[in-house]
Amino acid sequence: MLRAIQNFGSSSSGFVSQRLKPHGNCALSLVPISNKPSPLSPSHPRKPTANVSLIKGRCFRAFPVSCTGSESNPDVTSPSSPATFKSTGNIRKINFCQLCGGPTKHEIPDGEEKMRAICTLCGKIAYENPKMVVGCLIEHDNKILLCKRKIHPSYGLWTLPAGYMEIGESASEGAIRETWEEAGADVEVLSPFAQLDIPLIGQTYIIFLAKLKRLHFYPGPESSDCKLFSLDDIPFDSLAFSSMLVTLNLYVADRKVGSPKFHYGTINKRPGTSPSDIQAYTLDYHLKS
Ligand SMILES: [Zn+2]
Repeated sequence: MLRAIQNFGSSSSGFVSQRLKPHGNCALSLVPISNKPSPLSPSHPRKPTANVSLIKGRCFRAFPVSCTGSESNPDVTSPSSPATFKSTGNIRKINFCQLCGGPTKHEIPDGEEKMRAICTLCGKIAYENPKMVVGCLIEHDNKILLCKRKIHPSYGLWTLPAGYMEIGESASEGAIRETWEEAGADVEVLSPFAQLDIPLIGQTYIIFLAKLKRLHFYPGPESSDCKLFSLDDIPFDSLAFSSMLVTLNLYVADRKVGSPKFHYGTINKRPGTSPSDIQAYTLDYHLKS
């Protein structure tokens, strides 16, 4: 389920402040993923069994670049210093304590650097952290599976099946669950494809490459349609979110020259552009394997 993602400039974000410090030529590495199933949430009784391929430890090449998004190819790179990488997170106003309901005050706690909402009754400090959005890029017969949203925001636009990760599940399990919920598709996760941070709204996307366990899918309650698209027919003019535009552009670019890589990047809204313009972004500090 992904009901409210990437409304740039909305008040749904947490306070994100993070700087990356690349380490030479090994900026990212992956460790083996456990495919040990976690306890299933009773709220997701239909969740298929996770089947996650193990990924051996790998070292990734660093691409400290800045990319200006465009519909045709957002992955046009130009040199950029990591020092220019900065977060643009918002502070969400929290007026009441989530623990006791007491009114909050906004101060910088002792020993910290950031403004926090602090309960005036019990003293609890409200820490806000980014949300994880997980999803699948499903490949089948040189096509990919997209869902047409039947909910707002971005009603009627196309997206990869993705949604918020739940407590008690891994990212890959969440991606499998979301795919089942939104596309009625039982999938096997093959490998991670992209991690995309959106500091402005406090979200991190993890998109996995996946394959159908069987050729069967149907639109779930939040989708009006599910369809396999060849790469030439991907509806780039009617995608739901910048994250999907970035993901699909990276995927198509990879496929044109070979196999998909693993990508990390930060999606930043271009200043002065409309929150609803999903092409008004820059893909900063793009790293790929
Ligand atoms: Zn309190």
